Parts: sequence; C-alpha cells; structure tokens
Amino acid sequence: MSSPVSNNLENVDNDNHNTFIKQSKTDPNEMTVNRSKLLRTQMEQRLESARFRFINEQLYTSSSLEAYKLFHKDSDCFHIYHRGFTAQVKSWPQNPVDSIVDYIKKRPASLIVADFGCGDCKIALSVKNKVHSFDLFPVNKLVTVCDMSKVPLPDNSVDIVVFCLSLMGTNLCDFLVEANRVLVSK
Ligand code: SAH
Repeated sequence: MSSPVSNNLENVDNDNHNTFIKQSKTDPNEMTVNRSKLLRTQMEQRLESARFRFINEQLYTSSSLEAYKLFHKDSDCFHIYHRGFTAQVKSWPQNPVDSIVDYIKKRPASLIVADFGCGDCKIALSVKNKVHSFDLFPVNKLVTVCDMSKVPLPDNSVDIVVFCLSLMGTNLCDFLVEANRVLVSK
C-alpha cells in the first residue's frame, strides 16, 4: 500500500523509485533510507527554487546599489540566483543569449562588445571579438565586477552593448544612459 509520500516520489523520480522498489524486496531499512534521501533532495530543490524566485523578485524591485549589496553581503544569494537562472534557461526552447552570439558572429570581429550583466560570460566565451563582461558578482575570471550603472570604460569606446535578461532594477534608466556614454557615437 503506497503512502502519499511514496506516490509523490514516484511522480518525481521514476528511476530512483524503481531502484528503491528493487531494494525494498531485499532490505526494508535501506528502502526507508532511500525514501528519506529522495524526499530530502526534493524538498531542498523546492526550497532553492523558492529562494531563486525571491532573489529574482528583489532584483526587479530594488536599485542596483541594493542588489550589489545583497550579493556581496551574502555570496550564497548570487550562487542560488545563478543556479536557478541556469536551470530555468535550460527549459526554454531558445536561450536569447544564443541569438545574440549569432548576431555578433555575423558582424566584424573587430567590433568591441560590452556585455552588461554577463552572468557566466557566454558571449565572451563564444565570439572572437574583444568583449568586456560586467556583472555584480564574478562567476569566473572574465567578469569585471561592477554595477553596470557605472562601468569602468571610457566614453565612446565600444561598438555593441548587450543587455541580455539583465535590465532589472528600479534604476534601469541609469544602465541605458551608461550604455549610451560608452557606445561609439557615429
Ligand atoms: N546575460 C546573461 C545573464 C542574465 S542573468 C545571460 O543571458 O546568460 C542577469 C544578470 O544580470 C545576473 O548575472 C545579474 O547579476 C546581472 N545584473 C543585474 N543587475 C546588474 C547590475 N546593476 N550590474 C551588473 N550586473 C547586473
């Protein structure tokens, strides 16, 4: 007879559940341990998803200075956000950053790019162009940590500015003004 918990687990992970049923014939104790582990993993994942949604909401409803402080006061926040973002993107039929990479690849490699809110620097890692990658927190060594309302670039110094899923924050106009400052005026 299945309990509500085991029904739930069956829905979540058939492979593990099948394993658990095979083991249950031979070792009831191991069966209980496996079920507890699976339930724990499932609950941890739900908790992390909830934290991701909460942090995402904070990023859209606070200023970039507050977002900077949030990530630097507690680096876990950024890692949870980044893991959650990466997991979400995997379920989309198309990741917009791939379209941007395709666009840049069709333009001359001499053009200089600034990626505002670069995340894991997919653009810098995918094109031949010089790419300045800016983010509030460094996922890797390619990232220049800064608030993109003020990036460390001179006026008129880049040909392409990218905001891919990064226009968040109550002061997003500051990001656009900053992009306008660094873009080469034609
Ligand atoms: N552009 C990447 C990542 C998008 S997630 C991609 O498409 O894969 C949004 C990113 O914007 C996060 O990494 C977040 O830290 C960054 N971000 C949000 N506000 C920012 C700000 N004010 N300055 C710099 N980066 C910012």
